Amino acid sequence: MLSGKNYIAGEWLDGPDVFQADNPATGEKLPTKFQQGTEEHVNQAARAADACAEEFAAMAPAKRAAFLRACAEEIDARGDELTEMGNLESALPAARLQGERGRTVGQLRFFADWIEEGSWFEARIETAQPNRTPLPKPDIRSMFKALGPVGVFGASNFPLAFSVAGGDTASALAAGCPVVFKAHAAHPGTSEIVAQAIAAAVEKTGMPKGVFSMVHGGGRIVGQSLVAHPLIKAVGFTGSTGGGRALFDIAVSRPDPIPFYGELGSNNPVYLLPNAMKKNAAGIAKAWAGSLTMGVGQFCTNPGLLLAVKGADLDTFVTTAVEELGGVASQAMLTDRVSSAYHHVNDDMAKHPKVTCALKRRDTDGPFEGSPAVYRVSAADWQANPELAEEMFGPAGIIIECDNEEQILEISAKLFGQLTATIQMDDADAAFATKLRPLLEKVAGRILVNGWPTGVEVCHSMVHGGPYPASTDSRSTSVGSLAIKRFVRPVAYQAFADALLPDALKDSNPLNIPRLVDGKWQMPK
Ligand code: NAP
Repeated sequence: MLSGKNYIAGEWLDGPDVFQADNPATGEKLPTKFQQGTEEHVNQAARAADACAEEFAAMAPAKRAAFLRACAEEIDARGDELTEMGNLESALPAARLQGERGRTVGQLRFFADWIEEGSWFEARIETAQPNRTPLPKPDIRSMFKALGPVGVFGASNFPLAFSVAGGDTASALAAGCPVVFKAHAAHPGTSEIVAQAIAAAVEKTGMPKGVFSMVHGGGRIVGQSLVAHPLIKAVGFTGSTGGGRALFDIAVSRPDPIPFYGELGSNNPVYLLPNAMKKNAAGIAKAWAGSLTMGVGQFCTNPGLLLAVKGADLDTFVTTAVEELGGVASQAMLTDRVSSAYHHVNDDMAKHPKVTCALKRRDTDGPFEGSPAVYRVSAADWQANPELAEEMFGPAGIIIECDNEEQILEISAKLFGQLTATIQMDDADAAFATKLRPLLEKVAGRILVNGWPTGVEVCHSMVHGGPYPASTDSRSTSVGSLAIKRFVRPVAYQAFADALLPDALKDSNPLNIPRLVDGKWQMPK
């Protein structure tokens, strides 16, 4: 079933060497030998993408939408195969993988509907005023156009939803940009099955072959050469802060710097406000434990940082959380690298002189093992020791004990960028929440009240991003329909004859899309 090959513009190609994926549940190698990718594969893929970029960008939205829907159908048709392979490669349970597939195909269909609706073009028309004085006004029209070939990297913790046909690929293809995808070495089999699905959708809907390629890893050079390739015009990245930053630096140091949209790390502060704690500290602690350990804590939105005023309610919270988390069995983490990094950061935390360790265990010596951990630190010590703010990617949390509400506000004003910030509050906390909100707006992409940040809805209003290091471009989101804006740029056309204009800007509005005409929105018929 699996070829183990690189998929380059319709061809399945060998590499100079092979690698095997790990089975995190057993620590053993899985049998399939995957062909390593090379700089030459990247070059072939980028050239094929560039060769069809204009055709793909100019295609009627309905045709690209049909392609996205066909990708979704083909992925669903391979559903059982994907769940089985995903489970072997990631140790994520079947139900989680099925849910993630639902999100992935839902996202492809969501973008298909969105590009047909047409407002994403932001078509703007200013009609000419030849008799205006002192100078005549020319006819000027503008719209968003695809940037060109996009390089995409997926993370190990979402083998489907942030991988081969995940949000970055779906939004780039929706925008009209061909994609060259760098497969993650943690789930090459799952990646190949999704690439097969896209290849089938390319055939079925008559897309140019260069519209999608997938290159396996083969050392850092594959990813680095993808970002540096002169024909690649933007990059979507989901992964670690270190990896994302290294690739961002390459993108902006090119002779022609390109946009690099990196969705990186976050520790997602949760604010436990005093009245909510007085009413229900134990209940909030149980809910937190559930969110913290979901997927062995391997979510970029994992709530790993808590802030509260110290006292009896916080003690109840910690005691309950430790009881709950102490009963959660250790589980296999995604990769050896993720697990070693998790143990390393926990070891540092546990022996830190300013930190109190409330819970830390290691149940097995297995290479992939991950167990919950809880730490406490005073607000003053947390502020004085910046290393304590490092993301603990896994089921670990640190609680910052503040002297009073003012100290919570003081810390909040200094937090670095976050994907999310959560307020656990009661109605009686409203006055404090009102002071907190403007501080959190500066820090986070999404602010939640009385919920938990794990689980990111794919919808028009979602923001999954935030100031660095949550993302490398705080103006963007990698989830939801706004994600498409990362891969387009505005182009203005001055004094063009109607026949020469793109369809989105022609007088007769042949695409039947919403347009801003002389400052007023005109809705389609
Ligand atoms: P990762 O180690 O950074 O890997 C992501 C991809 O980038 C892989 O294909 C990797 O290739 C490549 N890469 C990393 N460093 C590179 C470098 N210096 N040069 C070239 N290529 C490089 O991340 P991960 O372990 O898969 O994911 C876990 C992290 O992702 C966590 O920190 C988590 O918070 C974050 N994450 C963020 C989001 C979000 O939306 N913000 C979502 C999910 C996960 P190799 O295989 O060759 O290393």
